[in-house]
Amino acid sequence: MTTPTETAAALPFDDLEITPLHAFDAATGTLAGGRCSQCDAQMFPKAFICFSCMSDQVLDEPLVAEGTLYSFTTIHISPTFATPYSIGYVDLVSGVRVLGQLAGEATDFSCDSPMHAIEDEQGPTGWAFTPTVQHIDQEPSA
Ligand SMILES: [Zn+2]
Repeated sequence: MTTPTETAAALPFDDLEITPLHAFDAATGTLAGGRCSQCDAQMFPKAFICFSCMSDQVLDEPLVAEGTLYSFTTIHISPTFATPYSIGYVDLVSGVRVLGQLAGEATDFSCDSPMHAIEDEQGPTGWAFTPTVQHIDQEPSA
């Protein structure tokens, strides 16, 4: 059986290695972030020291796990995971930029498109971003 620590050690990028496992709460649709009580900076993941003012007064702050895909890439070679898989930066509605795994095919993703987090038990962190399906109103028939 793989423990969370063993899984974290196998993550492909430093940025993902600090991402808390199972940081997404599907019941509330939020990621377990932080907010500095001194300068109000929000962050994900929650840090022990504020990156902005170096205060150690960082409180838990659930961040709505919806946003816009800023950038992404697809990995085709990995000693650890089945390929291809994609990772990307999502700018949350709160303004925090989050690096995460993307669920779906590479052709599903495009920059500036809406994304939201889902549980992803197959992925390394237990959650992933996926495109938010937009319902485009059909033109009225003539
Ligand atoms: Zn601060």
